[in-house]
Amino acid sequence: MDYKTTFSEIYAILKTVENTGKVAEYIPELKNVKASKFGVSITDISGKTSNFKDAEESFSIQSIVKVLSLILAYKEEDEQLWKRLGVEPSGSAFNSLVQLEYEKGIPRNPFINSGALVICDVLLDILDDPKKDFLDFIHDISGDNTINYNKKIAASEKSYAYTNTALINLMRSFGNINNKISKVMDFYFHICSIEMSCQQLSRIFLFLANNGTCPIHKKRIINTNQSKRINAIMLTCGFYDEAGEFAFSVGLPGKSGVGGGIIAIHPDKYSIAVWSPKLNKKGNSFLGTKFLEAFTTITDSSIF
Ligand code: GLU
Repeated sequence: MDYKTTFSEIYAILKTVENTGKVAEYIPELKNVKASKFGVSITDISGKTSNFKDAEESFSIQSIVKVLSLILAYKEEDEQLWKRLGVEPSGSAFNSLVQLEYEKGIPRNPFINSGALVICDVLLDILDDPKKDFLDFIHDISGDNTINYNKKIAASEKSYAYTNTALINLMRSFGNINNKISKVMDFYFHICSIEMSCQQLSRIFLFLANNGTCPIHKKRIINTNQSKRINAIMLTCGFYDEAGEFAFSVGLPGKSGVGGGIIAIHPDKYSIAVWSPKLNKKGNSFLGTKFLEAFTTITDSSIF
């Protein structure tokens, strides 16, 4: 399939749609990204990658990393992990405090901020040198040693971390955080700051389209059952309070980040990454979501 032609046709149509999104400003450093950037990369199950526009330019993947931190914790803790958090869609904003209070500090799922902070707390208990070990894990599953943290973005988020600080303190008060709050947050901000391009994302996530084994370097990363479960959580919780809308319009498991990236998986077929920094009101890439909707519609390739 010649994806490049399809990509440029969709892009030409979407160019005529007014982009009402806004670049995330609550992490000051993210404001410096050029809002007009746009990239797409698809890697099919045979490992063949097709890129479009800024697909090789790195950006901060933000919450997309939550899939990878979940996977590392899940590999170590197995089903024990679900004692600390759930697998239900929250129907609330990614940084909402409300639900967390009446559900006694147990986050609904690993992709809202509270859940991702609990996963970081779990990883601090498991890893000897958390920041180094996490990066080693990313290098190992991607086979790409160039991937790194962006310390400026991590520091920028830390300086405005009021809501995340409230979330973690609330969970601590309910006994669902074991480590020092500053350590968990420092680790969380670092993993969110990791930079990758669409090309790197579509390649690193391909194992989720292949029952947990990377078709490129043939390493098994998780087992088939775990891969099923991660895809299920991505489908139901990957887009916060827009998860239903994303499943309805795109029809693929996926995960977004406030850096404007989205990764989506078509089991047995491909993984696709899109990047466009302006976000819609729910914090998901405006153009990225529209692009994926058009892509799965035109190519007849959603999971439904
Ligand atoms: N680091 C961001 C935060 O905690 C991640 C949010 C996102 O990408 O959705 O607010």
